[in-house]
Amino acid sequence: MIMTPEPSGSLPDRTLYERRESQVRSYARSMPRQFGRAEGVWMHDDQGGRYLDFLSGCSTLNYGHNHPILKQALLDYIAADGIAHGLDLHTDAKRDFLDTFETLILKPRGLDHRVMFTGPTGTNAVEAAIKLARKVTGREMVIAFTNGFHGMTLGALACTGNATKRGGAGVPLSHVAHEPYDGYYGPEVDTADLLEQRLADPSSGLDAPAAILVETVQGEGGLNAASPAWLRRIAKIAKAHGALLIVDDIQAGCGRTGGFFSFEDMGFVPDIVTLAKSLSGMGLPFALTLLRPEVDQWSPGEHNGTFRGNNHAFVTATAALRHFWSTDEFRRDVDRRGALLASRLASIAADHGFETRGRGMMRGINVGSGELAATVTAACFDAGLIIETSGAHDEVIKVLAPLVIDDAVLGAGLDILEAEIRRAMAADYAVAAE
Ligand SMILES: *Cc1c(COP(=O)(O)O)cnc(C)c1O
Repeated sequence: MIMTPEPSGSLPDRTLYERRESQVRSYARSMPRQFGRAEGVWMHDDQGGRYLDFLSGCSTLNYGHNHPILKQALLDYIAADGIAHGLDLHTDAKRDFLDTFETLILKPRGLDHRVMFTGPTGTNAVEAAIKLARKVTGREMVIAFTNGFHGMTLGALACTGNATKRGGAGVPLSHVAHEPYDGYYGPEVDTADLLEQRLADPSSGLDAPAAILVETVQGEGGLNAASPAWLRRIAKIAKAHGALLIVDDIQAGCGRTGGFFSFEDMGFVPDIVTLAKSLSGMGLPFALTLLRPEVDQWSPGEHNGTFRGNNHAFVTATAALRHFWSTDEFRRDVDRRGALLASRLASIAADHGFETRGRGMMRGINVGSGELAATVTAACFDAGLIIETSGAHDEVIKVLAPLVIDDAVLGAGLDILEAEIRRAMAADYAVAAE
């Protein structure tokens, strides 16, 4: 028994949230506890309950909660009166981050991209990417993919597939074509062929795109993982048609799929890359957009924002890069752990005829219905495991454990998942048999 579930009968008062917090709150509804403290892979509520975190703030905490080295770097910086906010001025913290990012991430991968500091959330990085692509190409239309998720602001939302999210826009979401992602029509149909055919046909109705925007693994859209061959084709198609290739690596990057970038070693180089979520390494808001130098056609201040470059996040991001990305040990560790996760999930899935999805440490089980997935994740939460769903119908139970998780603890969390799937299936069977 590794969990200590909440003592019964003393639920905290949540009427304050009901009275004063907007209805828009979401995760708090399925995890109705009050959290106060977290370290590593554990979160603690105010009733003494301890939870194993298989959500990691939607992959913002790849290195776990309050990693001691990152935390100390930030404490030291604040203690020394380091600049907390400086618009986009040059600061010591920014220099250290840029220098470290260049040395440890960009140069070893042969990337000559420039770093654009956007507003601090992922959707800001996506907005900047598509705005620049439209400016550079003089074209309006962006190709995004079915089940893609790119953020909630209008431009990024237009690129997002999910109907509920799109429905919140209140205005038409235009200038985006949603083409079928890899595997959308099953293994028989190569959707790269379809895209190429449509773009080559002047009467297909598909305008020449400014950009093709793609996730290599669809984090919110059901953990569909595109094959390297498909992604290479998409890169080729973009080039052939004068469109910029934008890889949205906000969720799949920062080690989640093994490499720092999810497209490493795949044989293509995106024109633009977006990063956010785990970039700061500590859950601090921080996003950036990487641009090939020839694409960096902004005029000064043309895309602006007060919070471009969060100095505290620079400090923790730099510490994370130095600690985890100076050698390839971390990557090998994530690859190994990802294989472990894959085999455990495959065996759980096989027991019930389900399918697994994903790549690296970004994997899940498609249980076929959102209702079943919700039953299982709620039961997991009661058993001390924080885990969420993904997909068009929220039908994929998604494991986003911190990348630093101990193998035995990962196994213990998967034991809970396995038991709760089995219990839910048995209950389903009992109902069906009545
Ligand atoms: C989370 C996410 C975004 C949006 O990031 P926010 O910080 O929520 O604005 C964009 N793209 C992908 C792939 C994401 O997973």
